[in-house]
Amino acid sequence: MSDLIGPALVVTRPGGRDVLTVEDRAAGHPGEGELLVEVSAVGVNFIDVYQREGVYPMQTPFVSGNEGAGTVVEIGAGVDGFAVGDRVAWPQGLGSAARYSVQPAARVVHVPAGVDLDDAAAVMLQGLTAHYLVRSTFPVEEGTVALVHAAAGGVGQLLVQMVKRLGGMVVATAGGPEKCETARGRGADHVIDYRAVADLAAAIDEATGGRGVDVAYDGVGKDTFDASLASLRPRGTLALFGASSGQVPPFDIQRLNSGGSLFLTRPTLGHYLRDRAELEWRADEVFRQVADGTLEIAVGGRYDLRDAARAYEDLEGRRTQGKLLLLP
Ligand code: NDP
Repeated sequence: MSDLIGPALVVTRPGGRDVLTVEDRAAGHPGEGELLVEVSAVGVNFIDVYQREGVYPMQTPFVSGNEGAGTVVEIGAGVDGFAVGDRVAWPQGLGSAARYSVQPAARVVHVPAGVDLDDAAAVMLQGLTAHYLVRSTFPVEEGTVALVHAAAGGVGQLLVQMVKRLGGMVVATAGGPEKCETARGRGADHVIDYRAVADLAAAIDEATGGRGVDVAYDGVGKDTFDASLASLRPRGTLALFGASSGQVPPFDIQRLNSGGSLFLTRPTLGHYLRDRAELEWRADEVFRQVADGTLEIAVGGRYDLRDAARAYEDLEGRRTQGKLLLLP
């Protein structure tokens, strides 16, 4: 196995997309508790951007990517439950953007029959995120009214489908008619083109007949935060899980009181994958939904690893729908 060599997407120093380069690298060997995987597909995520830019400080150079799926080619010491040839995937493994990637077995799950490796790579990070938001952060029940921003995006399309599956009602936002159509196609009950309305909070209020939403799932951040907060019913919850438009500035806690004894949380996937059991529970539920067709994965673009900069340009430039994959 020692002569395996393949391309890897390297971040040479903190910065923009120009710091990305593709290098051929030796696969190496898995250490104790690790697997060497031949990667079929790598998920493109905002966290890659934050790590590349240094928003999340990183030692450079490093191999980019956090999410992937592929086939086990070598097994390190002390690993149980995996065999060479197994199809696997993972949501949070730095160094995923390479043909060969060494990953800790504890953070890797099997991909069941009925789910292809592209779909597995596409659904790990965003799918587990949508899962924890609707099952744990604010559990959706029959009749729950949920606001989902950027509903044509990666997490957005999954959230809409999961809320509907649990019996909730979705008020969705998206930028432009085409993305609104996508959100509608995923099952959203009311869709607002937030680039076209002057008063977003008023538009959401109208969609709920003045009732307000039980929960706002907001991954857009700066541009939608105020409207999300204003849209909540008394004692409603704002789950601010991202900041694709920029970080929310410092916030006066008193607004939670005047808004109606509101709840605000800033959740992140790692805290909802506390241990192996939680990872397996979430992955199993998400994969089951993919396999039985109740969760449709929309891959909005596949890019050769060498075109990774273009994939990130499209994601950051708000041009994409669904999930982007890199093919190493
Ligand atoms: P998306 O596919 O949703 O892409 C981002 C979308 O956000 C865009 O397509 C765009 O949709 C919207 N958007 C609004 N304003 C901007 C802007 N100024 N620049 C760029 N995009 C903008 O991405 P993901 O599904 O991968 O991620 C969504 C959010 O979820 C991100 O903030 C990400 O960091 C976060 N996240 C958080 C996790 C967690 O555990 N906390 C885990 C995974 C993701 P439109 O054109 O419709 O406005």
